[in-house]
Amino acid sequence: MRLNLKHTFINELPADPISDNSRRQVKRACFSYVTPKLTKSPKLLHVSKEMANALGISERDLSSETFTNVITGNTLLPNTKPYAMCYGGHQFGQWAGQLGDGRAINLFEVEHHGKQWTVQLKGAGETPYSRSADGLAVLRSSIREYLCSEAMFHLGVPTTRALSLALSGDDVMRDMLYDGNSAYEKGAIVSRISPSFLRFGSFEIFSARQDHKTLKILVDYTIKHHFSHLGAPSKESYIQFFAEVSERTLDMIIHWQRVGFVHGVMNTDNMSILGLTIDYGPYGWLEGFDFGWTPNTTDSQHKRYRYGNQPNIGLWNLYQLANALYPLIETPEPLENILENYKVGFERKSLVMMKSKLGLVQEDDKDYLLIEALEDALLLTETDMTIFFRNLSNFKKGDAKKGLEIVQEAFYASNEVSSNIAQQWRDWFERYDFRLEKEVLSNQERQSNMNYVNPKYVLRNYMAQLAIDDANKGDYKLIDELFQLLKQPYAEQPNMNKWFAKRPDWARHKVGCSMLSCSS
Ligand code: AMP
Ligand code: MG
Repeated sequence: MRLNLKHTFINELPADPISDNSRRQVKRACFSYVTPKLTKSPKLLHVSKEMANALGISERDLSSETFTNVITGNTLLPNTKPYAMCYGGHQFGQWAGQLGDGRAINLFEVEHHGKQWTVQLKGAGETPYSRSADGLAVLRSSIREYLCSEAMFHLGVPTTRALSLALSGDDVMRDMLYDGNSAYEKGAIVSRISPSFLRFGSFEIFSARQDHKTLKILVDYTIKHHFSHLGAPSKESYIQFFAEVSERTLDMIIHWQRVGFVHGVMNTDNMSILGLTIDYGPYGWLEGFDFGWTPNTTDSQHKRYRYGNQPNIGLWNLYQLANALYPLIETPEPLENILENYKVGFERKSLVMMKSKLGLVQEDDKDYLLIEALEDALLLTETDMTIFFRNLSNFKKGDAKKGLEIVQEAFYASNEVSSNIAQQWRDWFERYDFRLEKEVLSNQERQSNMNYVNPKYVLRNYMAQLAIDDANKGDYKLIDELFQLLKQPYAEQPNMNKWFAKRPDWARHKVGCSMLSCSS
C-alpha cells in the first residue's frame, strides 16, 4: 500500500514522554504513543470504496491481506507511529477532567488530492486514556458507526467518515443494558477518517490545567492546518477561529434537525473542532416527530440531549470552548458577541431550513407561524418525520383537500386519525396551500427541490438493528444492502421501497431500536 503519509500532529505537537499503556494523567502533551493490540483473526467485513478512493487506496490494495491487517492494527505501515490523543470534556453538564482516546488509535495522516486526512482505529486496544475500560469495541456499535457515518456523508451532513468495518476475532465482554447481565460479544474495529479528530475537549483540557503554553501551541497548529485562511496567530485570528467553529457547529446541528438525527451524547469531548458529526454512539433517528425524544437510555431521566435541545446544547458547548480559548484572547466581548450571533443565526437558519423542507422560496414574514402550526400538528398523533416530509412534496397547489390523504401514510395510529386531528390538519393544509400561492415554481419544480432536502431513506434505528442481528449470526449481506441504499438517500430507488416504511411494531420497544445505552 503506497500512501502519501504525513505526520503533522506528532511532529508539531508536544508528545507524552512515556509510551506504555499505563493509565495516567498526561500533562503538557497533546498525545501519547501507543501500540494497537494484535488481534486473533482479523476479518474485513466491509469497505467504503468512496473513502478508499479519497485516500488514494487502490482496489487492489483493498483486497490485500496487508490492508486488513493495517485497518485492524495488526500491521503498522513503515515509519508510522500510532498515537492516542489527550483531551478532556464536559459530560452531561459537568467537567469530567481528562478523558482522551480510550479506545481510538490514530495510525497516520494521508494527503491526497490536496486534502488532509487522519486514519484512526476505534476499538484497537488500550491506551493511557482507557481508564477502567478495555479499549475495545463490539460488533453492534461498530456496525452502527460504520453505516451511519457514511450515510450522513451522503445526506450532506458534515461528518467524520468510515473506511472499513472488520472483526477482530476476539470476544469482548459487555453489560449491554447496564443491568448486571454481562456477556461476550464479537469484537470489531472501525477505521474512521477525518481531516482532524480534535474536539472541544482537546482545548478545554489545557485551559483547565492552566497550561496556556500548550493551549497556544495546539490552537496555532489547528489554525495552521485546518483554518489556514485565518492567517498568522494573533488575538484576531483566535477570535475568528472561534467564530468559525461556532458557525460550523450551528450548521451541523441545523442539518441534524433537518434529517431528524439525534446524536445522543453531545458532551464536549464529542464535539469536533471542525463542526463534524463525531462519535456515533447511542444516536438515533426520529421516527415519530418528537422534540423530546432521545435514544440514549443513560440520558432518559433529564433528556439533556433530546432532539429539540440539540441547538441549545451546541451553544452550551460553545460557551465551554469560549472559556477554554479565553486565556489566549483576554477580552470577553468578541466571544460573547459570537455566542449571541449563534442564537440569532439559529433562528434565521432554522427558518430557512424548515422553509426548504416545505418547498418555500419566497419571503413571507408569517412563515414562522406556518412552521409553528406544522410542528404543533406533527405532535398531535405519532407522525413519521421522514415519510411526512417526503410525501409532502406530492402536494399540489390548489388541492388543499388532498393534503391529509397525501401524508396519511406517516401516521402511526390506525389508518384513521380522529376527526379533531383531521380537522387541524385540514386547517394547516389550507394555510400551506394559501402560502404556496406566493411561490412561482411549478409543482414539479417544488417537488424536486423538496426531495433534495427531505431524504427518502435514513438509517432507521430498526434497520441498523436488523443488520446487527444478522451479523451476529454471521450473515453480513444486510450491511452491504443498507450501505448501498444509503449512498443515495434522496433518490427514489423504487426497488428499495420496503425501507421507506414506518418503524414496524416489533421494534417499538426493542433494545437497540429505540433504546441504546452507552455500552459499546
Ligand atoms: P464516549 O462517551 O463514548 O465518547 O466516551 C467517553 C470516554 O470514554 C472517551 O474518553 C472514550 O475514549 C472512553 N471510552 C469509551 N469506551 C471505552 C472502552 N471500551 N475502552 C476504553 N475507553 C473507552
Ligand atoms: Mg467520545
